[in-house]
Amino acid sequence: MTAVFEKELVNIDGKVFFPYLSNNVIRKRIRELASEIERDYKGKNPVFLVVLKGAIFFASELMQNVSQPIFVEILKAESYGNRLESSGKVNLFLTNRNFGGKDIVVVEDIIDTGLTIKTIMDELAKFEPSSVELAVLLLKKEKLKFNLSIKYCGFEIPDKFVIGFGLDFAEYGRNLKDIYILKE
Ligand code: 5GP
Repeated sequence: MTAVFEKELVNIDGKVFFPYLSNNVIRKRIRELASEIERDYKGKNPVFLVVLKGAIFFASELMQNVSQPIFVEILKAESYGNRLESSGKVNLFLTNRNFGGKDIVVVEDIIDTGLTIKTIMDELAKFEPSSVELAVLLLKKEKLKFNLSIKYCGFEIPDKFVIGFGLDFAEYGRNLKDIYILKE
């Protein structure tokens, strides 16, 4: 598939980002993940817990390609301190706590050190769900510091900052259709 990008480069606040993953490639991979999830949860109605804000595009595409009725829930996680590096502390804002006995699929945009997801998993465990699995679009494997079992992973990427398809730089760029990578 020829990669077609909407922009040749993206400039936000003096930082320049280059095309990395095209919308077509991203959506094709998400449809593959959706098929796996559909098969693994046959006869079940899992809760998709979408981690805001970054996972909005990923979750939308993923959930529309799963055919069984699912329950959608949201969770807000904030960790980024200085725009390019995590602050090392994660704040969670959970509106629904009714997860007891449920099958949960946590839908996250990107795993870097893994601290955000580890914090979320520890919090969810308190509600005694029946199962919890992770669906993540991007994984910076070389940065991972925690032992996480990631069942559904879109792409493994290098340790570089990316934006687009839901991911931001200082809250800008989430709306870009493709994913762009920081020029260093
Ligand atoms: P972790 O807790 O795994 O170190 O970091 C995960 C969170 O940091 C993600 O949910 C995301 O908000 C942010 N993050 C990590 N790497 C990137 C990146 O390359 N681009 C953007 N836009 N956010 C990132």
